[in-house]
Amino acid sequence: MDVVDDKAIVKEYFNNTGFDRWKRIYGDGEVNKIQLDVRIGHQQTVDTLLEWLEADRNLDGLSICDAGCGVGSLSIPLATAGAIVSASDISEKMVGEAKERAAEVLGNNDNPSFSVQDLESLSGSYDTVVCLDVLIHYPQSKAAEMIAHLASTAQSRLILSFAPKTPWLSVLKKIGSFFPGASKATRSYLHREVDVTQILEAQGFTIKRSAISKRSVYFSRMLEAVRSVDS
Ligand code: SAH
Repeated sequence: MDVVDDKAIVKEYFNNTGFDRWKRIYGDGEVNKIQLDVRIGHQQTVDTLLEWLEADRNLDGLSICDAGCGVGSLSIPLATAGAIVSASDISEKMVGEAKERAAEVLGNNDNPSFSVQDLESLSGSYDTVVCLDVLIHYPQSKAAEMIAHLASTAQSRLILSFAPKTPWLSVLKKIGSFFPGASKATRSYLHREVDVTQILEAQGFTIKRSAISKRSVYFSRMLEAVRSVDS
């Protein structure tokens, strides 16, 4: 399948069946066991990221780009903590849901600011760029381009998560539909941590922190990359 197709299919999916599915997973209503595993694992990823940023003690007023923001699971707590958040997603349905959730928590204000945008067309410059659980939808070559583009918009830091390519996960993926993001409509892709690290290093970044959120079916490796001093 070609890369353009991947993006078109992902967009279509997250505006339709994927929207219904992920809105539920990233919510607090009743879900099945597998979805609950993904919900808990994803929340763990979000919580770890918030812990990292809070530990740095400079969240207030920090400009953050949340690329592929989904329903705002990260953008909303970041804005609540005082960061200036630019949230965007390729799916207008996800953005619509994120806006509603943000209004419930924060009232109608312009932080986070939301837009419907392919992350590869993001421009601007942010202290920190975050992209969680998005790369799983793209093959390695496309993911590499996306990471390079995101890096170009990050002044000091880029935080990414992806499904790590390990022997065990490769088996799970072969077995089939257990995988986060898996559905009849989309493919999921695993990425090797060494490859992602190399791409980040080639963009002039160094890995500072790393975490894994590992449950029965949800696996996500998160890397925080900071601009190398000499880059
Ligand atoms: N980052 C969010 C959502 C993860 S779900 C979170 O962790 O809660 C994956 C999201 O990526 C979906 O909302 C999907 O619409 C979005 N997405 C996929 N491809 C994208 C692209 N090329 N540009 C922007 N968003 C994209």
